[in-house]
Formats: sequence, C-alpha cells, structure tokens
Amino acid sequence: TTTSAFIGLGAMGFPMAAHLARLAQDTGGHALVWNRTPERARAHAAQHASTAVDLQDCAQADVLFSCLPTSAEVDEVIRQLGSRLRPGTVWVDCTSGHPDSARRQREVLSAHGVTFLDAPVSGGTNGAQAGTLTVMVGGPVAEVDAVRPHLAFAGKVVHVGDTGAGFAVKAINNVLLAVNLWAAGEGLAVLGKHGVDIGAALEVINASSGRSNASENLIGQRVLTREFPVTFALGLLAKDAGIALDVVESVKGSAPVLAQTLGLYRAAAQIIGEHEDHSAALKLIERMNAQEIT
Ligand code: NDP
Repeated sequence: TTTSAFIGLGAMGFPMAAHLARLAQDTGGHALVWNRTPERARAHAAQHASTAVDLQDCAQADVLFSCLPTSAEVDEVIRQLGSRLRPGTVWVDCTSGHPDSARRQREVLSAHGVTFLDAPVSGGTNGAQAGTLTVMVGGPVAEVDAVRPHLAFAGKVVHVGDTGAGFAVKAINNVLLAVNLWAAGEGLAVLGKHGVDIGAALEVINASSGRSNASENLIGQRVLTREFPVTFALGLLAKDAGIALDVVESVKGSAPVLAQTLGLYRAAAQIIGEHEDHSAALKLIERMNAQEIT
C-alpha cells in the first residue's frame, strides 16, 4: 500500500489532497496532510478522512506532494525535513516553481535518496475540485511513468522534458493567460469608451476568432459581474510572468510582448493588490481608460 503526503493545503492543495485521500481509501493506503496553519489540515482530515500530521511525519511518505506559493517555500520545507527524508520517496512538486530551483532541488534531494519531479498543474480551483487538472511533468521518463497512477487529481498528465521543463511550460502557459486577459481587457475598455455595450461585444468575441479562456470564462464571470472572486492571486500570476521572463533570458530569447506583460502585471499587483484575484488586473486598465469593464 502507498502512503502519500501533501504539504500546502491552499486554494489548490486542499482540493488536490482530497483526491489523494479518496485514492487512499479506495486502495487501502494512507493520505497524510500538513499545512503551516494547522487548522486547515485539521479541517481537511475532518472533511476528507485524511490524516493531519506534523511536517516531520511527511518524510515517511512514498509519494510526497507539495503545492506552495513559490520554489523558495519548497526549499524551506526541504530544509526543515532534512535528514528525516527516506530513500525511495518520490517528491512531486506541484508548485508553479522555477526551473533553476527544480534542478537544484533534485540534486539536494538525491543526497537523501529522494527523487524530485516538477509537476505543476493547470485548471484552477475548479479543476482541482473536479480532479481534472492538467499536470506537466519534468524528469526522467521512467520516474514520470511510475508516478502517474498516484496523480489522482489529474485529468491529463504530459511528460514535457527533463527536470525543470514542467515549471518552464507552466510559466509560459500562465504568461499567455496574462497576455490574453490583459489584451481582452484593453479591447473591451476601448469598446466601452466607443459607446458599445461591453456584454454584447464580449458575446461577439466569444463567437469569433478573438476569443480565449480569459474572454470566455474569466471576464464574463469575474469582471463584468464585479465579483473578482479570489481563486488565483494576482501576485502569483505576476510571479509566474517573472519566471517566464527568466526562461526567456536563460536562452537569450526575444519575447518583447511577454516582457511588457510582466511589467504590466507587476504594476497591477502593486497598485490593485497582490492578494486580489488575477482578474482584478483589469481594474488597472479601467483606471488607465476611466472606463469600467461592465
Ligand atoms: P494559496 O495562497 O491559496 O496557498 C498557499 C499555501 O502555501 C498555503 O497552504 C500556505 O499555508 C502555504 N505556505 C505559504 N507560505 C509558506 C511557508 N513559508 N511555509 C509553509 N507553507 C507555506 O496558493 P494557491 O494554492 O493558489 O497556489 C499554490 C501554487 O499553485 C502557486 O505556485 C500557484 O502559482 C499555483 N497555482 C495556483 C492556481 C490557482 O488557481 N490558485 C492554479 C495553478 C497553479 P497557510 O495556510 O499557512 O498560509
């Protein structure tokens, strides 16, 4: 039987770990959970029949998952677990992390006999609840194949390359989300100033070639409604855009649109607030144009 452990029961980790608890129940395994704020782990145990444990106990897991804000917090828990780590454990990091960190973390963990896979996810909190996340994994193919049966929160698992490739693909995916969201916001704000009904314009765009996930889902559900529900923080999307630009720089690439997007989301995070939802970036466009997108 398999023992899993999940470190970081945030907006994503909490529902992801619920799928691991269900898998453990179905297979006679164990699902351990740990969170910095322990009330959240206790709530998880009560709601999903997982076992809330101390951080040190997570080192006993066969498969150890983490989903923390950045690679820096993952470094911190690796340091805290230290010599408790057990040979044979597979560490699956679902954080949207940094490719350089992945290579370093794989090396640090290998000294303990632990293998590391970067396995960030896409699909948002809805996908995490439904268990339909897309997982992009970096690492040796045999290790990736061995971990596939344990990814109970996944709808799709793609091996994208060596260690760090998962984080690189995730960062580029998210900067594309940022580009699409921002560009749609600019376009709609301008149409609003032009006297066009923004809801009607969005309906047209969503039946036309200018559509994107941002136009089809985010803007209608979060911006036009003025709800801006916080499921994915603006500060985290700005962080992902920064990682994407580090990827560009690492290959001396030319990606001026992505570079400008990083600058815009840093501005939005600082002016609108890093803890606001990512869709609230469009509030900065509204100020720039003195035009609400509604
Ligand atoms: P949240 O802010 O909701 O959760 C962060 C988690 O990390 C919490 O469990 C928090 O614990 C924990 N944490 C923060 N700092 C530390 C620390 N120093 N030591 C230990 N634990 C810490 O973030 P999300 O769940 O939204 O995001 C997690 C990762 O997933 C990020 O990399 C994000 O970019 C990525 N992601 C997010 C998506 C989304 O839609 N939200 C979608 C896909 C990827 P505590 O409860 O104590 O604060």
